[in-house]
Amino acid sequence: MKSDRADCEICREIPRVTSVLEKHGETDGEHPAAVGRLVVFLRIPESNHQEVRRCPLCGHFYLYRYEYTYLTTGSEDETTYEWTTPDRVLALYAVKRPQRSELRFDGAAWNLVDLDAEARREAQKKRKTARRP
Ligand SMILES: [Zn+2]
Repeated sequence: MKSDRADCEICREIPRVTSVLEKHGETDGEHPAAVGRLVVFLRIPESNHQEVRRCPLCGHFYLYRYEYTYLTTGSEDETTYEWTTPDRVLALYAVKRPQRSELRFDGAAWNLVDLDAEARREAQKKRKTARRP
C-alpha cells in the first residue's frame, strides 16, 4: 500500500463502502464497475462468503461480503465491498482462524483451510468408499 486511494485509477472510483441489495430480482443500485478489477486475496471459509480483495494497482484492501437472507416474502441478497486496512484484515483473520488451520495458495488467491473440517470430510469420504461392495 503506497498511496492515497485518490491517486489510484481503480480505488478512486470505489467509495469506502458500497452495498447493493437485491430483492425480488430487483436491485437498489449498482456497484461501481471498478470493483470488478479487484482481485481475491484471501478466502475465509464458513464465514458468510467473506473475502479479502485487493487492488492490483495500489494494494489497498477491501472486504467483500455476500449475505443471503431467506424471507417468506422472497429472499434478499446483499453484496458489500468495504475499504479496510491491513490492521483490520489481521484482526478479522485472528477471529475467524480455526484452531487448526493453514494458508494455502491455489494459484490465484490464498485460502484459509480449516484442517479439522478437512479431516472430517476425508474421513467421511473414506467411510463411503469402504461401504462400496
Ligand atoms: Zn487502488
